[in-house]
Amino acid sequence: TSFDQLQLRDELLRGVTAMNFRKPSKIQEKALPLLLKNPPTNLIGQSQSGTGKTAAFTLNMLSRVDLSIKSPQCLVLAPTRELARQIAGVVTMMGMFLTAEGLVVTEAIPQSVPRGQQLTGQIVVGTPGTTMDMMKRKTFDTRALKVLTLDEADNMLDMQGMGEQCQRVKNLLPKNVQVVLFSATFPPEVLDFASRFAPGANELRL
Ligand code: AMP
Repeated sequence: TSFDQLQLRDELLRGVTAMNFRKPSKIQEKALPLLLKNPPTNLIGQSQSGTGKTAAFTLNMLSRVDLSIKSPQCLVLAPTRELARQIAGVVTMMGMFLTAEGLVVTEAIPQSVPRGQQLTGQIVVGTPGTTMDMMKRKTFDTRALKVLTLDEADNMLDMQGMGEQCQRVKNLLPKNVQVVLFSATFPPEVLDFASRFAPGANELRL
């Protein structure tokens, strides 16, 4: 399979080429057709780290944003600030040919948006705590949110209370949000949580 066969918009094909991705990795090849289906379905994807999961969920989000709308539409939750920063970097790079069309990628950083103002990025990446805080302060308008991605779902659930925070964030999102969970491992208790968090999900294990 090549990226051309994955029904990506031209700007995204140019983005992957600019990043020197010649062909999709196995997880990208299997996950993208499931992720891009309409109406959107949830996905639980398992694949070792370093296999290209970030690009898989990033291409889904970049395919689904409506750039004429200047409010959050896709949210990625990650267990640490450092990982959130890295993911935001990948999304920005893959979406480089959409910048001229108005793509804005935002990292959720505590207190970065003054009270009374709102996030303008279509794609927001953050930790569950900070993201929840922004939603409570009303600096994060959740009404147009359509994709919720969790990276390193296993690590999130290992950490004290983070699964619960993710659940609280999800409770504030529109009911029909597409839930995408990626993780290197799904121990039984994590899979149990995952199946409740992403009901009816397609499951992909590599
Ligand atoms: P990840 O598993 O998302 O952390 O990605 C691991 C590494 O593989 C990163 O450095 C990516 O830039 C790279 N990568 C991901 N997908 C591809 C691809 N299709 N072709 C070449 N490199 C890739």
